[in-house]
Amino acid sequence: MPEQQLNSTTYVDINIDQNGQTEFVGPKKTNFLYDKCYICISIFKWFPVLFISAILIWSYYAYVIQLCLLTIESTAVKGIYIILFNALYFMTLWSYMQTVFTKSSIAPAAFRLTNADYQRIVKETTDERRNQILFEISKERQLPLACRTYSGAVRLCNKCNLIKPDRAHHCSVCNNCVLKMDHHCPWVNNCVSFSNYKFFILFLMYSFLMCLFGAVTSFPYFLEFWSNQLPTLGKFNILFLFFVSIMFSISLFSLFSYHIYLVLRNLTTLENFRSPLFAYGPNKNAFNLGRLNNLKEVFGDNEMLWLIPVYTSLGFGVSFPFTEDHANFLTQRMRQQQEQKVDSNELNEFKDRQSKNTELNNEKNNETDFNIQMPGSTH
Ligand code: ZN
Ligand code: ZN
Repeated sequence: MPEQQLNSTTYVDINIDQNGQTEFVGPKKTNFLYDKCYICISIFKWFPVLFISAILIWSYYAYVIQLCLLTIESTAVKGIYIILFNALYFMTLWSYMQTVFTKSSIAPAAFRLTNADYQRIVKETTDERRNQILFEISKERQLPLACRTYSGAVRLCNKCNLIKPDRAHHCSVCNNCVLKMDHHCPWVNNCVSFSNYKFFILFLMYSFLMCLFGAVTSFPYFLEFWSNQLPTLGKFNILFLFFVSIMFSISLFSLFSYHIYLVLRNLTTLENFRSPLFAYGPNKNAFNLGRLNNLKEVFGDNEMLWLIPVYTSLGFGVSFPFTEDHANFLTQRMRQQQEQKVDSNELNEFKDRQSKNTELNNEKNNETDFNIQMPGSTH
């Protein structure tokens, strides 16, 4: 590939095929249509958030005003219901806002390929050598990389022009490589990732508790709906309040349970479907530090702050502690490589000896031939 003159703002386009092989195809082309539609797409992405916000506003009206203030007669019950509902509502809203507005952490500058790197890479003619250069770049910059592609190469993002940190993935909606990406959630118009995973789980928990509380406390008044004892406007609000609470309780509980299972195993949704890959192969348990330590990775060291939607997750999202299991695999792999090296050295020495023997034999044969062809020699 011919060398190209690049200025400091030029991006590099890298293609990665299914086998994890990289292909460097030159300066990145901008998508004109995407740029033009960017504002429309950005507005459209907020629709699910507006929908959730509208449901939250309506549920407050239906529960506090229609159920508590206009339907329940007992002042004590009214007071208790309003206090508990407001507490759960506040925590739900707080964790939801944190999930929506916490920016996803992206890869630090050290992981980005510069034009100098690009110039080094394009000089090479084989994928093997290009991958070797990437290994060298990651070593020079002391990047903490353990994850690999299927072919054992350094993981590259062909969109962001960077070496992917461990557990980071490219989000096509956010158009960025996101640290410890779990999934992109349209209901929060954000990536659920390293920076907001705790908030997301707390949002699931508090919203589930709020819906469950709403369903249980509105149930007796839902029954009154069928005996026509409720005022006309209130009865439809209470009817929908009960149905919406039940519906959301079920879906939120299943989602919350699933994410608690993932937290306890220190896995992301993506890793649960496809195990993280290392130099020795896939390992789903590489980051599994035990249940308590896994919880601490997301919720932090201070148990007093576990249920509060403030940032307490451990680390920086770029490198993660490994298990003994992973360390053992790595040691095994290194041993194998050393043995292979020894084997290949022995093989080379053997080949050298063989070729020297052959040379000596040939020389001897030549001498014999020469002797045979010597004039005057006897046959
Ligand atoms: Zn990317
Ligand atoms: Zn995203």
